[in-house]
Amino acid sequence: RFTSLPPTPPDEPFAVNGAYIEDKDPQKVNLGIGVYRTADGLPWPLRVVEAAEEHLHEAKNVHRHEYLTIQGDREFLRLATDLVFGAEAKNSTQLMTGPDRDRVVSIQTVSGTGANRLGAELLARNIQPGCVWIPDPTWANHHTIWELAGVQRKTYPYYNNASKSFDFEGTVRTLSKSAKKNDVIILHACAHNPTGADPTQEQWKVLSELCKEKGLIPFFDLAYQGFASGNLEQDAWSIRHFFRCEPKLEFCVAQSFSKNFGLYGQRVGALHVVTSTVNHQTSQNLLGTLCHLVRGEYSMAPRGGSEIVRTVLGDKGLKNKWFDDLMTMSQRIQQMRQALYDELIRLKTLGKWDHILKQIGMFTYLGLSETQVMKIRSRHHIYMLKSGRISISGLNESNVKYVAQSIDDVVRT
Ligand code: PMP
Repeated sequence: RFTSLPPTPPDEPFAVNGAYIEDKDPQKVNLGIGVYRTADGLPWPLRVVEAAEEHLHEAKNVHRHEYLTIQGDREFLRLATDLVFGAEAKNSTQLMTGPDRDRVVSIQTVSGTGANRLGAELLARNIQPGCVWIPDPTWANHHTIWELAGVQRKTYPYYNNASKSFDFEGTVRTLSKSAKKNDVIILHACAHNPTGADPTQEQWKVLSELCKEKGLIPFFDLAYQGFASGNLEQDAWSIRHFFRCEPKLEFCVAQSFSKNFGLYGQRVGALHVVTSTVNHQTSQNLLGTLCHLVRGEYSMAPRGGSEIVRTVLGDKGLKNKWFDDLMTMSQRIQQMRQALYDELIRLKTLGKWDHILKQIGMFTYLGLSETQVMKIRSRHHIYMLKSGRISISGLNESNVKYVAQSIDDVVRT
């Protein structure tokens, strides 16, 4: 039976993290895993999360450990939907209400990964796309998720190595030539992981036209809203644009609260499925299908983390506190980008480094080769993904000079 199982390659970010933990060198630096770290290199429970936890603790609600519904916490979902689609979704000064809101069917998920997985399963079973177009490179789990869903995977060229930016021409060329009706296209809504390079608004407009023209199903992965720029509206611009498009597009959004609330292990997220028309029966059937899939997998998403998010988003004062925390995180990351860049320039390190300042979000795609990545690990005990992706928040005042010197060393020798 089990003796015939072949070995499975380990997941890279978690394997790199494990190797870092094992390393006994005092100067070791972890730039592998995508988690926020403070200037002291420690995890940071957001201040607003601590405040919400206190609220919840004091309330001593006797229902606090009861089951959620299969769909999840509906108030959490309402607030999560507002966050993604926002006020602009409707020609009104209020948040999205009325008929437009009914284009969105939402279900609570086991964080962003769970939302990606559930969406993949929904589409694989019910639409049977010819293939899914995955950016090259991407968050590696996209490949695993769609492989498990049994959908053929193809890639589109996302990154232009020469310009160190989004390969708009390559993407449009590939999709125009080869994508077929009902194919799915994975899009990172903001702060593309691993490259930190995003399309411009004009490029997003062209991509939305292309999706309409070719009858593609956009699938947005939204893992960094508010974390990328510190601005929730800006980070959701792509999705809101696709939502407003005429004629209307149908698409999915996988929303994660891991990074923007620092709730990594709590597994808080949602899947939003946007329909082109408002039809009560369609929405009911869609929700029923999603609930059926969730019930058979794990019955419902966990409630601990979603209660924290609901408490914050439902209270003006706490929400403002959250904005402050988002600024704290995104500004520290920005400062570290600058510090790394300044140091490489000061050292006159071979190559060009301005992409470090241009890329956004948690990561930078340094441009080191795999050999250089292995060298920096063995010589200097600095850990990053083999693609040369570094998590900027692993940098701090105490290690940024050392990291720059080490980069300088491996690109010279
Ligand atoms: N998508 C992308 C692009 C990510 O970077 C991540 C986090 N690494 C996720 C989804 C999902 O993370 P989680 O399951 O913790 O929400």
